[in-house]
Amino acid sequence: MKPPPFQYHDPKTLAEAVGLLGTLDNAKLLAGGQSLMPMLNMRFVLPDHVVDLNRVAGLSYIKETAGELEIGAMTRQRDIEFSDLVKARCPLMHQAIMHIGHRQTRNRGTIGGSLCHLDPAAELVSVAAAHDATVMVAGPSGQREIAFKDFPAGYLTPAIELNEIVTAIRVPFWPAGHKAAFIEFSRRHGDFAIVSAAALLMIDGGKISRASVTVGGVAVAPLRATEVEQAITGQEPSSELFRKACEWCRGIEAMADIHASADYRQHLAAVLSRRALEKAAGLADNAPWNRKH
Ligand SMILES: Cc1cc2nc3c(=O)[nH]c(=O)nc-3n(C[C@H](O)[C@H](O)[C@H](O)COP(=O)(O)OP(=O)(O)OC[C@H]3O[C@@H](n4cnc5c(N)ncnc54)[C@H](O)[C@@H]3O)c2cc1C
Repeated sequence: MKPPPFQYHDPKTLAEAVGLLGTLDNAKLLAGGQSLMPMLNMRFVLPDHVVDLNRVAGLSYIKETAGELEIGAMTRQRDIEFSDLVKARCPLMHQAIMHIGHRQTRNRGTIGGSLCHLDPAAELVSVAAAHDATVMVAGPSGQREIAFKDFPAGYLTPAIELNEIVTAIRVPFWPAGHKAAFIEFSRRHGDFAIVSAAALLMIDGGKISRASVTVGGVAVAPLRATEVEQAITGQEPSSELFRKACEWCRGIEAMADIHASADYRQHLAAVLSRRALEKAAGLADNAPWNRKH
């Protein structure tokens, strides 16, 4: 299938790109094109103008600032996959990115595109929620920051204006020695997850001192299981503790679609969040679902 007709724009600077969005009617930004191109070809979106971010300078980088990783919006998923800095500082992102599509899609797909497409099961969206990330946005009145919990405005809809561009994401990293696990259930390797779970744990003196649990693909955006986090904090990690706490996920108001019913998503959320916690805590090394074949 071919995309509908549109006018193509090729800005070289962020100011030029923001300026174009301010003057053009019905414009769409193009990043890696891994979601936008299929949506154009299937006529889910019909823009009159496409503004290509690929030649805009300064949007692709990974750097460490005070206690945070800052990743430019146009950084390719494949560059994140091979970044030693990401692997060391944000092992959850490293694990999660290995589940995104295929190397061909990761070669083109960007972190900014993934966040803005905001698929409920997108791995990088879950990681942003798990780490309480901050999204940096540029618009006609300058730069602003959005706490990730306020970034999803609805299904596939980020809380940015039509004339704004996401420029970077800042991910506060957890102290060295923290434990991270990302797991998901999908029908085939490379497919979007039906449900995913991300767990971050700090364990001090045999007890959990800090926890972050995120389930993706269940609601319209990845959801922090704050009740689970509270129930396990201060406790000794055990499979029984995690099993009981994660039962809370069966009460999430879940989506239903052609791939899975709401009941099944709730079930997967309870099982996968428990497994992610067990894996992070080192309790799952011999679990059948965690064995390498
Ligand atoms: C076969 C296949 C399998 C895939 N599997 C997965 C998967 O398992 N998990 C997963 O998460 N994704 C998956 N994807 C999608 C892929 O990760 C995309 O890279 C991602 O969803 C969008 O990133 P992109 O850079 O390609 O953005 P694009 O497709 O170019 O853009 C996506 C949307 O974001 C907007 N946008 C892009 N950049 C910005 C910006 N800086 N500021 C504001 N708006 C912006 C665009 O206008 C568009 O609406 C898959 C894709 C394919 C083709």
